[in-house]
Amino acid sequence: MGLFDVHAHLTDPRLAAIEGEVLARAQAAGITTIVSNGLNPGDNQAVAELAARSPLVRPAFGLYPVDAVLPELLALGIPYEHRGLEPVAAEVAVAWLRQHLPDAVALGEIGLDRHWVPEPLWERQEAVFRDLIRLGLALDKPIILHSRRAEARALQILQEEGARRVDWHCFSSKIKLGRRIAEHGHWLSIPANAARIDGFRRLLEILPRDKILLETDCPYLSPVRGELNEPASVARTVSLAASLWGCGEGAAVDQLEENFEALFGFAP
Ligand SMILES: [Zn+2]
Repeated sequence: MGLFDVHAHLTDPRLAAIEGEVLARAQAAGITTIVSNGLNPGDNQAVAELAARSPLVRPAFGLYPVDAVLPELLALGIPYEHRGLEPVAAEVAVAWLRQHLPDAVALGEIGLDRHWVPEPLWERQEAVFRDLIRLGLALDKPIILHSRRAEARALQILQEEGARRVDWHCFSSKIKLGRRIAEHGHWLSIPANAARIDGFRRLLEILPRDKILLETDCPYLSPVRGELNEPASVARTVSLAASLWGCGEGAAVDQLEENFEALFGFAP
């Protein structure tokens, strides 16, 4: 039992270059489980290899909602930083997941993104999202959800498909909708930059405590602006949660561990 990070990108080149020290600092901070999320087939493969050599890391395989329509996006001439990877058709990425998702602890990240993806591609993005939700349900895997400027629509689709084991990563829409999501039975993972972003801090305060998980989205969303983020920073969020909840850190960790186990089906 211990602390966890449900949404990390340890395969990001900036973190992969310093993998040993990042994992050592996570362990020193009391973290026992890091769920590293994949973005596309190439990244999923890297996540699988990392998890195979590190007992701290558990793999989540996914298809980032922008990657899900990347060939179409580039064909429209829309510039998007795609990390130097070859754009892969969604069908190929879904076929990879069909084969390998049984080896993962979760399906993620997947979802909807209307920030980078223009309206003509929303329908295709949603169709891929539905296919993936159905795959996750068929294999009984929890979903780690990315939603940007499409939260109400994502909730509607998840409800229509009957997905119940869902973690909303880095939820950034209205607090009222966040509360509705938790009341619906889904979880929300709060990033470590809650230390400096009021919206996340507010979620920690008002959401039912049994629906809260912790994440970093590292290397992004550092609690210190401009710094590279890493899983060790969840320890800060534990301190923040304990102070907002008016309890000791031990009690906060107990609650968070229970929440993790309720979603993933194993203790962190
Ligand atoms: Zn992410």
